[in-house]
Amino acid sequence: MSDLPLKPGLSYVAAAPASPWSTYLAQVDRVVPHLGPLAELADVLRHPKRCLVVDVPIEMDDGSLRHFEGYRVQHNIARGPGKGGIRYHASVTLEEILALAAWMTIKCAALNLPFGGAKGGVRVDPKSLSKKELERLTRRYTSEIGIVIGPQKDIPAPDVNTDAQVMAWMMDTYSMNAGTTTTGVVTGKPVHLGGTERRVKATGRGVFIVGREAAQRIGLSIAGARVAVQGFGNVGSVAAEMFAAAGARVVAVQTQAATLLNDNGMDVTGLVDHARRNGSIAGFGGARSVAPEELWSCDCDILVPAALEGQVTAERARRIRTRIVLEGANGPTLPAADDILDQRGILVVPDVLGNAGGVTVSYFEWVQDFTSFFWTEPEINARMETIMCDAFRAVWELSQERRITLRTATYVLACERILSAQKERGLYP
Ligand code: NAD
Repeated sequence: MSDLPLKPGLSYVAAAPASPWSTYLAQVDRVVPHLGPLAELADVLRHPKRCLVVDVPIEMDDGSLRHFEGYRVQHNIARGPGKGGIRYHASVTLEEILALAAWMTIKCAALNLPFGGAKGGVRVDPKSLSKKELERLTRRYTSEIGIVIGPQKDIPAPDVNTDAQVMAWMMDTYSMNAGTTTTGVVTGKPVHLGGTERRVKATGRGVFIVGREAAQRIGLSIAGARVAVQGFGNVGSVAAEMFAAAGARVVAVQTQAATLLNDNGMDVTGLVDHARRNGSIAGFGGARSVAPEELWSCDCDILVPAALEGQVTAERARRIRTRIVLEGANGPTLPAADDILDQRGILVVPDVLGNAGGVTVSYFEWVQDFTSFFWTEPEINARMETIMCDAFRAVWELSQERRITLRTATYVLACERILSAQKERGLYP
C-alpha cells in the first residue's frame, strides 16, 4: 500500500495561500455542492491534463547566451482543443499558468465555446529585450511547445505583454516547421494574416457589454455612472473608452506607473493618446496623481480590475466603495475578498464571464481560418453581443434562482458542461 494522502494535491505545485492556483481550487470547492451527481467527477477540475516546461535559450544581441523558462499547460480538453493566451512577464510561474489555463476551461465552457482550457507563458521581462531578441525568444518558445499546439490541438492567443506581432511570429514559426501555412494555430493575428476584425478590442468591448448588462439588472444607468479602472492596457483602456463613449465618467485609472483621479471624469481619448505618445499615463494633465492605494477607496459605481491576479484582497474589499466589481483581469479577486464583497452587497461580475469577449472573437477567428471565409465587422459585433448577452442572462437567472453569487452561477453552468462531456467520453482505456 502506498502512503499517498487521501486528498491528493499536485506534487509540482506548492499552491501557496492567495496564489492563483489556490484561488482557483477554492472556487472549485464552492461550486461542488451545486453540481448534483456530477460532483463525483469534480476532481477532474483539480487535475490539469498536461503541463509542459521548456527551456528557451536565445542568443542576445551582444552575442551572449541566455536561458528563459517557458510553459504551456492544457488544463482540460474534454470539450475541444485547448485555448488560451501566452503571457510574457518576469513573475510568470508554472503555478500561475496552471490557474490561468483552468480559468480558460471554465470560461470557454461558460460561453459554450467548443474549446478546452490552456495557457502559456515565458518568465521574461519583455521590455528588457530588443525587438530582434523578442522575435528569437518567441520563435524558439513556439518551436519548443510545437509538440503540443496546433489548430486541432491547442490554439494560443495574446495575453499580458504579447500582441498581434508576437502571434504573427508564432504562426510563421509553426508554419515553417509544419511546411505549410497554418493560420489557425494562433488567434489574435494581424488582419491580413488570417486575423479577424475586432479581435484587438474584443476583450475590453466584452467587459463593457457584460458591465452594461449587470448595471441594467441593478438599476444603475451607465450614463453618468462613475467608473474606476486598474490597468490601462489592451483590456482596461478599451473598456474605459467604451464606458466613456456610453456617457460614464471615468474617475480613476491606475497602471504600474501611476494612479490618476478626476471626480468629474477624465478625457479617456486624450489619456489614450497621452499613453501612446509617452509610453505611460504618468504626467497626464487632465487628472491628479495620487498614491496607488487611493484607487481602492475612490468613490465609484463600477470598479474594473484589469491588470493582474490577486489585486482585490480582503483588506481592499473592506474599503472599496462601488456597486459593481467588473473583473477584466483573470483572477483579480481573492476568495476571502469575494465573501466580503458579497456580504457588503457589492455585485461581482467574474472574470470567466467579464473578460470572455476576447476568446469569443478568437473563436470567430479560428472558424474563419478553417473556412477561409471572413466576416464583416458588423457581423462579428452582432454575434459577439448575442453570445455575451445570452451567457450573462443565463448566469444571472441561475444566480437569482439559487441565490448564489454570479461567480458560483457561472461555475455551475460551466462545470456542468465540462463534467458532462467528461462523463460521456468515459475513462480511457
Ligand atoms: P496589458 O499588458 O495590455 O496591460 C496590463 C496593464 O496592467 C498595464 O496598464 C499595466 O501597467 C497594468 N499593471 C500591471 N501590473 C500592475 C499593478 N501591480 N498595479 C497596477 N497596474 C498594473 O495586459 P492586458 O492584455 O490588458 O491584460 C490585463 C488582464 O486581462 C490580465 O489579467 C489578462 O490575463 C486579462 N485578459 C486579457 C485578455 C486579452 O485579450 N488581452 C483576454 C482575457 C483576459
